[in-house]
Parts: sequence; C-alpha cells; structure tokens
Amino acid sequence: MTGRDSPLQDDLHAVVVGAGFSGLYMLLRLRQLSLPAVALEEAADVGGTWYWNRYPGARCDIPTTDYTYSFDPEIEEAWSWSEKYATQPEILAYLGFVADRYDLRRDIRFSTCLVSAAWDDTDARWQVRTDRGDELRCHHLVMASGCLSLPKTPDIEGTGRFRGRVHFTSRWPHEEVDFAGRRVAVVGTGSSGIQVVPPIAEQASQLVVFQRTPNFSVPAHNGPPPEKRVQALHADRQAYRHAARWSRGGISYEMTDVSGVTATEDVRRQRFEQAIEAGELFSILGVFNDQVFNAVSNEHVSEMIRERIRRIVRDPETAEALCPKDYPFGTKRPCLDTDYFETFNLPHVRLIDLRKQPIVSVTEEGIDTTDESFVFDDIVYATGFDAMTGPLVNVDITGRHGITLKQKWAHGPSTYLGLATSGFPNFFTITGPGSPSVLSNMAVSIEQHVEWVADCLDFMRRKGFDTLEPTDTAEAGWNQHVLDCASITLHPQADSWYMGANVPGKPRVFLPYIGGVDAYRTACQEVVEKGYLGFQLSGPSAQQCNDGVVRRLQPDVSILLQMVEALGVPPIESLSVDDARALWRASAAMRPPPPEVGEVADGTLPGPAGDLAYRLYRPATAGPHPLMVYFHGGGWVLGDLDTDDALCRDLARRADVLVVSVGYRHAPEARFPAPVEDALAAVRWISANGVALGGMPETLAVAGWSAGANLAAVVCQIARDDGAPHIAGQLLLHPVTDSDLSRPSYREFADGYMLTTAMMDWFWEHYADPSRRADPRVAPLRGRLQGLPPAVVVTGEFDPLRDEGLAYAQALAAAGVPVEHICARGHVHTSITMVDVVLSGAPVRAQIAERIRHFMPATAPAPAPAAL
Ligand SMILES: Cc1cc2nc3c(=O)[nH]c(=O)nc-3n(C[C@H](O)[C@H](O)[C@H](O)COP(=O)(O)OP(=O)(O)OC[C@H]3O[C@@H](n4cnc5c(N)ncnc54)[C@H](O)[C@@H]3O)c2cc1C
Repeated sequence: MTGRDSPLQDDLHAVVVGAGFSGLYMLLRLRQLSLPAVALEEAADVGGTWYWNRYPGARCDIPTTDYTYSFDPEIEEAWSWSEKYATQPEILAYLGFVADRYDLRRDIRFSTCLVSAAWDDTDARWQVRTDRGDELRCHHLVMASGCLSLPKTPDIEGTGRFRGRVHFTSRWPHEEVDFAGRRVAVVGTGSSGIQVVPPIAEQASQLVVFQRTPNFSVPAHNGPPPEKRVQALHADRQAYRHAARWSRGGISYEMTDVSGVTATEDVRRQRFEQAIEAGELFSILGVFNDQVFNAVSNEHVSEMIRERIRRIVRDPETAEALCPKDYPFGTKRPCLDTDYFETFNLPHVRLIDLRKQPIVSVTEEGIDTTDESFVFDDIVYATGFDAMTGPLVNVDITGRHGITLKQKWAHGPSTYLGLATSGFPNFFTITGPGSPSVLSNMAVSIEQHVEWVADCLDFMRRKGFDTLEPTDTAEAGWNQHVLDCASITLHPQADSWYMGANVPGKPRVFLPYIGGVDAYRTACQEVVEKGYLGFQLSGPSAQQCNDGVVRRLQPDVSILLQMVEALGVPPIESLSVDDARALWRASAAMRPPPPEVGEVADGTLPGPAGDLAYRLYRPATAGPHPLMVYFHGGGWVLGDLDTDDALCRDLARRADVLVVSVGYRHAPEARFPAPVEDALAAVRWISANGVALGGMPETLAVAGWSAGANLAAVVCQIARDDGAPHIAGQLLLHPVTDSDLSRPSYREFADGYMLTTAMMDWFWEHYADPSRRADPRVAPLRGRLQGLPPAVVVTGEFDPLRDEGLAYAQALAAAGVPVEHICARGHVHTSITMVDVVLSGAPVRAQIAERIRHFMPATAPAPAPAAL
C-alpha cells in the first residue's frame, strides 16, 4: 500500500506523475514495453480523483459500463459494476483491483510529490526532484497528474478563522464524517456541491447552501447498470468499445439531426423528456444537433430545465435562484443529481443566493453575509479546481533555455494535440489542455493518450531517436484549431472553469478541445501516419521532422465537406445544365432560415433583352442607406436570387447598406457578353433610381461572389472607361478574375473543397469561347486597372480561385487602387455564402462589413455588430 521506500533508481526511461486512471495505465504500458519507469504519487495509494474525493454522494457521471478501462477484456470479465453510476468507494476499489492485478504498486512511490523537473540538453534527460529529497534522471516525463486534481483555494475572506470543522470535498477525510444533528454550511454548487448536498441534508439538523452561480442539473436516475448498454456490451464487446472510441464524447449515444430552431414545440418537448428519462449527460447535451452552437436552440433546452426546477422546488424565490440564467446550457459542466432540487423543499435546508447577499467573511462561528450572520458546526467547501493547467504549472517544470512551463503558458496553455509542448522535449501531458479531456468520457480519452504515448516511445526506441518535441508551426496550428473549434460554440460566453474563469488571474482561454473524441483521434492517427507530422525527432544518428499543421480547415467546413462526401452528390459537370441548376437550388434550400433584415422586396428593372429580376434588402436602421448592387455566384450558369439570399441579408445587416441583388441572364442560353451587359444595365438603372429605392447613389458600390464577383469587377472597368456611373467601391468575394486554370491553387484544391477545377472548366465551356477568354470583360485581371474604385478582395485558403483572387488584389494595388485583401483562413469557395451553416465564416463577414465602410461611409452611425 505504501509503495517502495528504497531509493529511487536513477536514469529511468520514464517518470510518470500520478497514479489515477492515467498513471496506472501508463505504468502498465511502459512495463509491457520493458521500459523502466516509476510513478510518483502525492496520495498514499492509487486512485487519483477517486482517492481524494471521498465526500458523501461522490459518484461518476458517465455510466460505469463506459467509465472503465477497456484495454484488457479479462479485467472487464473479472469486474462487474453494481450501479449505473458507481460510488466513489466502488471506483476506488476498482482502481485498486487493477493495480493489484498487474502488480503496479511496486513501481509507484506514494506520498511523494514531484516538485521540479528541469530538462538537461547535454544528456537529453529530465532532472527530477521530489518533496522527499529524491533526485533522479529520466528520458521522458509523463504528466498523468490529472485535470481536476489541484483544488482551488476558496477566495473568501477569513477562511482560516472558523473554529468548527472544515471539510473540502476534494480532500475528504478517510474516516466517516458524521453530520447528525449538526449545523452545516456547504459553499459551492458545482458538480461536487450538487452531489454532497442531499446526503448531508439527510443527517444535518440545519443545512445552508451558499450559491454563487446556479448550475444546470438533471436527474441521474441511478440504479443498476442500464440494461440496454449492458446487453450491447455483452453482445459484442469489441464493437461497443469501438463505437465509444469513435464517438463524439467517448461514449456511444444516438446523435440527432433535430434542430432546436426548426423543431416543433411537441418534438422539442418529446426529445427533452427522452433525454431526462435517459439520465445521461450526453443525452441532455444532445437534445438538439445545434444546441452547442445556436443560442435559440440552446435556450429551448435551458428553459425546459428551468421549468423542471420550478416544478420541483416549492418556494418560488428559491426555485428562481436555483435557475441558471446567465450562461447557455452545457457551457459549464452540467450535473447529474439525485434529489438535489428536492432537497430544498426540506424545512431545515436553505439556499443563500450570494448574488443577492454576498459573503462578507467567514467568522469564528460561521459565515457573515451582507444581510445575516450564520452559526455553523461544519463548513464544507465544494469550491472546485484549478482545472487542466493547474496541476501542470503548479510544478516547477523548466524546459529548454531555462523557460518554465508557467512562463510559457502565462497567457494560456499552448500545446500540440494537448499531448506535448514545444521547448519541453520528451514531455507528455495525459489529457492535457487542447485535447478532449474533461469534455469526454475520460476513461476513453485517457486510454487513447496513454496508448499514443506508449506507441511513440516504442517508435523512438526502434528508430533510435532520443528526443521528441513539437515544432512551433505545428503547435501554433493546433492552438488555432482548438480556438477555432471553441469559437463557433457558445462556450466562450460562460465564465466557466473550462475557460479558466473560476480562478482569479488565470488567463481566459477555452482549455479543452471541443472538436470531438472521434475527430481528435483521427488527427492523432494522422500525425503518426504522416511520420509524426509536426514533431522534431532527434537521435545520435538520426533526425526527422515533417513539419506542418495537422488541421488547417475550419472545423465546421471540415464537417460540411465530410457530409457532402458522404451524400455522394454527383459532380456538377456530370449533370445536364437543368439538373445542375436544380441541385444548386435544392442545396441552397436545405440551409437554415436566413437572418432577418428590415425589409426584403422583389422587383424588376429593364435589361437589354427584357426585364431583370432584383431583390432589395433594406437594413432595419433608418435610411437612406449606401447602395450596393450584388451579383450572385454560380459560374454564370447556376444560381439565382434565392441561392445567395442569406449572404445578401447578412451583408445588409452587418454593413448597414441597401443591397440590391440582381438576376442576370445565364449561360449557356445567354453566353458572354450577355451577363456582362445585364450587369452593366442593372448598375446604371440602380444608380439612376437609387434615391427612389431609398439609397444614397453617390455611395453606390458593386459586389459579387465568384462569377458574380467577375461581373462586378468587369462592370467597374467599363464604368471607369465610360465615365459613368460613379462606383464608390467594389467587393469581390472569391472572384473569378482570369481564364487561366494553371495557377497552383487549381492543382492544390482541384477536388474535395466544394468548387472543383473540373467544375470551373465546365463553367468556362458554357460561358465563353476559348477565343474570347482573354477579353478583359471575361478576364478582368487582363484589363487596365488604373483608376478603378477602391476594392475589398476576399479569397479562400482552400479555393481553386485563391491564386487569381490574390493576383487581382496584387495587380490592383500595383495599379495604385486602394485595396484590402482578406484571406478567409481555413475556408473554401462556398463558405461565405453559407451564412448560418458555416458559423466560422461570421468573423470573415464581420471583417468585410468593417472594411467596406471605408468606401461606403454611412450617414447613420455604424450599427452594433451582428452576433457572430
Ligand atoms: C468528483 C469528480 C467526479 C468525476 N467524475 C467523472 C466521470 O464520471 N467521468 C469522467 O470521465 N470523469 C470524471 N471526473 C474526472 C476525473 O478526474 C477523471 O475521470 C479521471 O479520474 C482522471 O484520472 P487521471 O489519472 O488522469 O487524474 P487523477 O485521477 O486526477 O489523478 C492524478 C493524480 O496525480 C497526482 N498528482 C498530481 N500532481 C502531482 C505531483 N506534482 N506529484 C505527485 N503526484 C501528483 C494526484 O495526487 C492524483 O492522485 C471526475 C472528477 C471529479 C473530481
């Protein structure tokens, strides 16, 4: 039970810090690889979380069928869980059983803290020191030190003064604590607070719960392990585990395609009730497919949970105080409870809402708030953890060049895959920041990390590498990806511990990776398959570095591309023109409802060969507004006013301009120059009639996307040559500027990024004869560019048209035209038009709106930015 007390062996292959779920498995893997290792553990025994958090009511919140090791079917056979959500003693016993089964304790030094570790470049080893005076060297340092293992000290005045008993849920005594007949305070209502309140209420004569932030909680419906899961597991253990490993959260559950925005009230309620019935975290987190991104959808779930609370808690004021209202559901870790809300109906239980009466100080007798003095026999602090980064930066870890981890992470953690960090060779963080970790079933995430590290160490040994360290490029790319994933969710809105917001002074950064266990596992595998992409490996006789970024696409774009691929949509160029148009329209119609604007009105204007349809989008602000004539995309062949409707609305709202989207004749029925003639006629007519439309014609700009941007650019050149109409600016979104398809982006993104090179060929065939493709009215890049209106040119990083858009921006600048170039990082050609689908496009569109104000100064003050 106490581990070895003999001196620790120097020069080990690895030192593992921690002997919880992670440390135990890491140690076992190292032993299986015959790599000498030792684990250091502050606690007196194995268990980690389950060693320390012994408070009454402590349980897991992932069903035990899944919150368990899966690497060895034999231990799965040998151990059976008694409950759906096991109690702390049972989980601790399980980890003890695993430690015994593999005789792991002999390699664990208990009651021993790692206090410092310094990388020594000269012999490529870590110099490790413990609080017991041990000094040893090792090649690899594996931090299995937990994400929720460093308790947060309560930031309350006078905590040391109290003369009664003090307990921390995260450092609970081993002997039973008897609360019978006692006056007890519980401070904190996070997961631990919610678990500890009901059992204490059963014993105490008086219980006062001090709540700063109410928490969303739903019933656990604990009982025997769920029959459905047990059956599935027994029917095919391998398939069950495989599904969990490749699921979004590390536990398989049914994903829905029901949107909380478009579902009927009946469907919404039905789905919610089913989730409540299931009593599982991921069920309530997945009531709707969009609740993590969409505030409206999220509010439906939030409000249904609040309704439940109001139904349960009899005192309306207490019920209201228990209802979370200032952060979206799921952005703080939701809880599963057993009779938590019911407990507040007991006569001896009281809730104190610290937002109404804050704590002034802990006193010798109890707690003083601004309104009352309370006397207690016991105070229980359930005040949480310095999560994820705390246990890592709390240790004095010094990497290359004397930089400590604390210094490097002063503004937030920076990791590659949440597993490693540059400047700290041979240093691994199990479930570190930047990995799914606390957002997942951690048993699954831990196994994946441990196995990845073990495979990596084995690879290094086989190939003769001594050190491994991520490159700055790879790490910066991963950090960006982690941020991109979080940015499209509602998470950044909450002051949660996921955001580091519970610890004063901690950088406010979203810590875990929210892209999903499945997506994450794929990225980790890809890194290995690409020769440890983004890692620098060195050895006495070998060096290897395949530098690069593993995920450059925006996360929602990536999902979209996967969905399109899965749908098996035929290539446009394989279809007849009519079928292609129908497909184009159908895919636009599948998008969610577009954003609201002040007014949308359809009309017609005279064109050279008959009337042209237009659609006007008026902002809700008072006019007159600057005018913007917009031409839709679709390769001069496809598209209409409907297909670019959402983008026009978004432009009108964000930039506060009157957008007039014009329908023009299409090829092949009307080949070049018909679309150009229509576009020109439309701009002239709108300029002449701008006042009647409610616009300011002197600020008329033209805009377009793709082939529409080609028309906009061409119109600018013709208007300049004609001397009229005056065009104040041009907004060219992913423009076609040249008929030369030999630029590198046509090869790099030829296929798989929505617009393909083959599709562009098809469009050109329909639009213009090869003999005419050098005409500047077809290829504006070949025209004279001096004297053109100021331009905003947007290109997509993953767009075959990227290089010609960039070439146009550069040529405009060289010709003395004021030009702003915006590169839509991680985006494809179509991202910009998919307003409510590709949420990561919102910052790009916000940037566009901000830039076009330069050439379209509005009379009215700029509107508040539209929600991203
Ligand atoms: C109350 C509670 C309930 C939870 N329920 C769930 C759940 O249901 N499902 C789920 O997926 N996750 C849950 N978690 C998260 C839980 O932490 C993980 O599931 C898992 O137990 C983590 O295992 P670990 O080995 O990585 O870390 P830990 O279990 O935290 O173990 C880390 C160990 O490292 C030791 N250590 C840290 N620093 C040092 C140092 N410098 N020197 C020496 N030793 C050190 C600590 O003493 C600790 O024992 C819960 C967490 C808490 C607090």
